[in-house]
Amino acid sequence: MKRPKLKRKTNYGNVIFEKPDYDELRKEYTILDMHTHSERSHDCQTHLKDMLKKAAKFGFGLAVTDHVRAENSIRACKQKKVLVVPGIEVNSIENKELLIYFYSAKDLQEFYEKYIKPYVTIKKEDKRKIITKRLQIVIVKKKMQQILEESEKYSCLQSIPHPYTLPTRRSHIFYSRKKRRELFKDIEGIEVINASMTRHINKQAMRWAKKSGKSITGGSDGHTLAEIGSAVVATHATTVEGVLESIRKRKNLVIGHELKYSQSLRDYIASQRYKKKEGIQKILHLEKEVHEKLLKEFFK
Ligand SMILES: [Zn+2]
Repeated sequence: MKRPKLKRKTNYGNVIFEKPDYDELRKEYTILDMHTHSERSHDCQTHLKDMLKKAAKFGFGLAVTDHVRAENSIRACKQKKVLVVPGIEVNSIENKELLIYFYSAKDLQEFYEKYIKPYVTIKKEDKRKIITKRLQIVIVKKKMQQILEESEKYSCLQSIPHPYTLPTRRSHIFYSRKKRRELFKDIEGIEVINASMTRHINKQAMRWAKKSGKSITGGSDGHTLAEIGSAVVATHATTVEGVLESIRKRKNLVIGHELKYSQSLRDYIASQRYKKKEGIQKILHLEKEVHEKLLKEFFK
């Protein structure tokens, strides 16, 4: 007798660990990669116009969430082909990150100009250790508490990205401290699939979100064009407001798969193997070649 194949355990209710099938999903849902980076991020060279081209081609929306920068997110909101949720990824003085999604590009612009842009700096203790531009840590000279309070002046939704990442940026421990319980309560969501993390790390995030009753978001955290779209949020809504509301009401799905060779892994390898400047130049050159090759393949 033929034994039945074991069903892979990838489905956890509204969190599905699978490569998103865009065509299939689009029959029923609006899908969006809620965590992407463009050339405005210090550690990324992917051009916004290429990101939008890819999103339009495969039929998913985007949130362009550059590190402490909002220019490209605002610019992306002005086009009409791709649904774009205005967003930003803010790194605090404690080196913890927060994704903030706004209901309007105007609000993001004001928040950015008033509370973020004038306070951006390179993290002090890292200045000496910088091997390459992409390993810099760019932060806002503000505590997470203050960033959160200032964002609350606008209609927005915050989500904690990759809460179980590398120790220095691991926000799970940060928010578990007694003194930050109130702060944690004020944050609406947790990113449960980040395609640049491992499955293990994402599952921990998912359990934390479920345990604490938070809304769930997901995205590729893509720094290269190939990565963008590897994790998405799926909702029945078709507008920015609708998408954010459905996340807030926990009516969305998060679908995605982790990438084998993510940007963060490449950064780590680069930092370990190539301590010398020439080594890094070689890597950057190689990445540029791969990137260009990919672009050609995509838009043939
Ligand atoms: Zn990111």
